[in-house]
Amino acid sequence: MRLILMGPPGAGKGTQARYVADHFGIPAISTGDIFRANVSQGTALGKKAQEYMDAGEYVPDEITNLMVRARIDEPDAAPGFLLDGYPRTLAQVEELDGMIKHTGHVLDAVVVLVVDPDELVARLVQRAEVEGRADDTEDVIRRRQEVYAEQTEPLIGVYRGRGIVQEIDGIGEVTEVTERIFAALDVVPQS
Ligand code: AMP
Repeated sequence: MRLILMGPPGAGKGTQARYVADHFGIPAISTGDIFRANVSQGTALGKKAQEYMDAGEYVPDEITNLMVRARIDEPDAAPGFLLDGYPRTLAQVEELDGMIKHTGHVLDAVVVLVVDPDELVARLVQRAEVEGRADDTEDVIRRRQEVYAEQTEPLIGVYRGRGIVQEIDGIGEVTEVTERIFAALDVVPQS
């Protein structure tokens, strides 16, 4: 099973990614989490990524693509994976197509969490208080929403054209949203 979980910042992707990935026995691969781990460990990759992340901008494609390619090549991703936060640009879509084709598989579904923008900002402000993420200040939150709308939302149209998009109402209890995702995915054939 090869899945992408998409949605604007604050839509609850990270939480849902873990539940859905566990259900299918595949790793949830979060590019944001990998970048954050590199930043906190002070690696060369973390040093390159940090200034972009702190500003709410996307890390350049060439850095992100190499990182995802290496992660997907890990043995635990052989049966499949769920990508949380990748792809985010059209260039990343093409890169991912190449990576998946190379393994002889297909992308099974793109799950899009749909959440009202006002609700998103409220959630992110609350998360900033709980987690203290450096990119959860109000200006950066706003910038991250803009970047998503400009660079990532158009990807939904690309995948819709391939007939693999499942749009899910992301408002409600975490378990309710998970059930909606499972209901939508049951109709997707496994590869
Ligand atoms: P996230 O936790 O998914 O919201 O990601 C946090 C930050 O990491 C983003 O605001 C970007 O700066 C960076 N990032 C995560 N995934 C990507 C990606 N696919 N392309 C570029 N930058 C990314």
